[in-house]
Amino acid sequence: MTQAAFYNSKAWRRLSRAFLTSQSYLCERCGKPADIAHHKTHLNSRNIADPAISLNAALLESLCIECHNTEHYGTGGAILQGLEFTAEGDIRKGQL
Ligand SMILES: [Zn+2]
Ligand SMILES: [Zn+2]
Repeated sequence: MTQAAFYNSKAWRRLSRAFLTSQSYLCERCGKPADIAHHKTHLNSRNIADPAISLNAALLESLCIECHNTEHYGTGGAILQGLEFTAEGDIRKGQL
């Protein structure tokens, strides 16, 4: 399964929405409004097909966009590298 297919799947949409609702849509790190369910175990082509990792609420963290950015790339890093966040809260290469 590709990352795009995973983030578009019903199972992920349902889980991420339920998880963010359980966190009151607040960032677990800074308390600002959060709209990203971040995988504490970063997904890759191997573990994305494993629901015990990719669809496990215990492995998610609710983050705002700044904290998510910092988690993956350090402050400002995503912008410098031409990356952007998708609506589902993960990162992809921006359209250049
Ligand atoms: Zn935050
Ligand atoms: Zn993430």
